[in-house]
Order: sequence, then C-alpha cells, then structure tokens
Amino acid sequence: MAVNSNSISVKHNSIVMYVDMNSYFASCEQQRHPHLRNKPVGVLTYDSPNASVIAASIEAKRMGVKTGMRLYDCKLVCPDIIPVTTHPARYRQIHVEIMAILRTYCDDVIAKSIDEALMNFTSYRLVYNDFTEIARKIKADITAKYDYLKCSIGIAPNAFLAKLATELQKPDGLIEITPDNIDGHLAKLKLTDLPGIASANERRLQMIGIKSPLEMRHSSEALLRKAFGGIVGNYWHKRLHFMEVDIYSNPFKTMSAARTLSKPIRESKQAMDSMLIALCMRLEQRMVKNKVFCKEIHCTIRYFDGNRWEAKIKLADPVQDGMHMRRYILEKMTDHERSHQITTLLTDKVQNLGVTVLSFVDEKLLQYGLFDNQMKQDVVRKVMYEMKDKYRKNIVRKGSEILVPGILKDAIGFGSVKDMSPDSDGAVVNKFMLEEDDDYEM
Ligand SMILES: [Mg+2]
Repeated sequence: MAVNSNSISVKHNSIVMYVDMNSYFASCEQQRHPHLRNKPVGVLTYDSPNASVIAASIEAKRMGVKTGMRLYDCKLVCPDIIPVTTHPARYRQIHVEIMAILRTYCDDVIAKSIDEALMNFTSYRLVYNDFTEIARKIKADITAKYDYLKCSIGIAPNAFLAKLATELQKPDGLIEITPDNIDGHLAKLKLTDLPGIASANERRLQMIGIKSPLEMRHSSEALLRKAFGGIVGNYWHKRLHFMEVDIYSNPFKTMSAARTLSKPIRESKQAMDSMLIALCMRLEQRMVKNKVFCKEIHCTIRYFDGNRWEAKIKLADPVQDGMHMRRYILEKMTDHERSHQITTLLTDKVQNLGVTVLSFVDEKLLQYGLFDNQMKQDVVRKVMYEMKDKYRKNIVRKGSEILVPGILKDAIGFGSVKDMSPDSDGAVVNKFMLEEDDDYEM
C-alpha cells in the first residue's frame, strides 16, 4: 500500500460526504433505454459470449451476476440477462452533469472515479446545519435530472468513513457514521468489507490477532503499526478514529512545456500536430513521474505578429494521458475555428506552441488508494488483456492510463497513430520526443 507522504491533518469537526452512484453504467443504460428498466442488464465492452461484464444492473446482481463474469457464465445464473455494449461518452456526460449538481452545494468536490465523488463540507459547517438533509436534496436533484439513477451517500468526519458509509446501504443508501454509532456499524462487518483491506491485509491483521473491524478500531496504534509494518498502521488507526489521512493536496502548482517552431514544422500542419503531441506526452511523462493527474490544461499559440490564442480547459475527470490532453486541446481549437470561420489556428505564422497543466490531483487518490475497489482494478486488467488479444498488442497502452473500465473502450480509438512512428521494438514513439526541450514556467 502506498504511503501518504503528506502530513496528517487532524481536523476536528470535519464533514465529508461521499457519493457513490449505484450500478452506474448499467443504470445509465436503463436511464437512456426505458425498456431495460427493472431488468437484468450486463454491460460489456464488446458483444461476445467471452466478453466480461464490466457492470451489472441491480436486478442482474440480485440474480448472482458479478462484475468480471463472462457473459457465458452470467447466462448460467441469469438466463434472461440482457447484454448491452458500453457507451463511455454517455457515462462521462452524465458524470459531468452529476458533478455540476454536487458543485451547487459545495466548491470542494473531488471526482474519485466516474461514479464516485467526495465532497469536503468542512468549511460549510456554518452554512448548513443538517447534512443529512443536504444529502437528501442532492439525491432529489439527481433524481429530478435522471429519474432512474440512484446513489448511496455516506457522511462522516473523514473521507474513509464516508466512503465506508456508502458501502453499508445499497442501493439508494444514506448513512452517517458518528462517534456514537461507529461501533454498531463496524460490528456487522468483516475485515475485507473495509475499503483498502483485501486478503493480504486481512491476513496481516489476523496474524496479530485482530479478527474484525471492531477489534481493529479498538487496537492500539502500536499494534496496528506492527500489523502493517509501519506508518500505514498509524493511518489505519487514525481513519478509524475520525482523523483525516486521505485528503491532501499536491505541492506542484503548474508544469509547462513549450517549443519555438522551426520553419519546416510551421509549414506542415501535421508536423505541428505532432509537436502538440510531443508537448502533451512530455507533460504526461512528468505527471507520471510526479504521480499526479491534472484537472486543467492551458494551451497557448503565439504568432509572429504578436497575436496569441489561448485556451483554458477545465476537466471534470482528471487526466494524465497525453493523447487525451491533445484531444481536449484539438476540440477547443476546432470550436474556435468554427465559431470564427477560420480554416486553422495552426498556420505557418505560428512562432511558439505551449501547453501547461495545473490543478493536480494525486494519483493515489485516483488509482491505487483506498477508493479503488480492488475488484474494479482486476476487471480492468482482465479486460485490457482481452483487448490486447483481440486487437493489436500496442493498441492498449500502459494500464495506468486507464482509470475506469468505461474509458477502456475509448482507448482503442485514442489519437491518431499515424503521427507516431514505431521504433525497432515496435513500440509507438513520437519522433519529436527526441528533440531537446525548452520548457519554461509560465
Ligand atoms: Mg458505484
């Protein structure tokens, strides 16, 4: 487990809300297609008996369908299952709308995945006096927009317990964990019911004599240190005692990459696009190295005549993938070109091209942290290997680029591979990557 390098913040009176959409992909399909409602639906990346179900509707789950099962096996337990191919763009669109609803209540909203968000209400303690009532309003707002979508909301003094509270009641849950009721809730759970405790951690705890979440909470910090072999044990102790160890910010403010274009590059639109890819990939490398994703991308084009074009792109889902960043930038360029009726922003008058990323989110919170359900990760990996077998090996790049199963299907169509040249091993590299950087901080 990754160690939290930031200092532990102990804030009394913190209020965190965790929102988890129930059976999200399947419910989005049922939202869009009323004939699928109240029926067992299995969402697949492609239509084949060998394909794995990446999401099952509430009805399919009740019949024993589990995420990751092959369609063929699903039919054995649930003969009426209706297979539906995934529509990532639809799920993202709804995600954006739901995030917008959450932001009407609180500025401090962090998307944890496409179907989960954390709302830090700590600075709103004097603004609202009943957070259960706020949670009900949020549910009502979501239902008003999407009548078939349900969510479980957890309220607690820290992110971990708020997330745990969403696991206690599904679908359509609303539970607050408080110092008064925590032991009652923990008493009903197994160790592996705690987000972040899978079988390896369960074994560690059992070896030291801790057999239940309740025993874990009432163990000393020293004993938990022994179980987890260090600081991670302190974190567990703090989580179960209402302290915050899972929300923290990253020290970087911005990262930039920019190049002044040479004449041969300015004169070829394709070369300029490749340069844009190189800049984005450079930033991807740096974000990977620093273990962060960004929620904001700025792109600047400077022209010889002193003019400049700037785009500021704010993202609902944090990105680290250079090709995704480039796609967002190209979309902005196309919008501008259309609305101003110009052929292209990338003319032979471009002097300098620059990309900056900012609003960083630590990747631990996105991928490897407590908030990732191990099952989901396993499914992503499995599905990815299926895709590798089915399509070309390099078509799906490294696993860390894929945050949620739904984005996977999009990964097949990422960017335009023609702008990249294969190296001797057949790996895709961009020839402009080999040029020297002239990075600058904006
Ligand atoms: Mg969910």
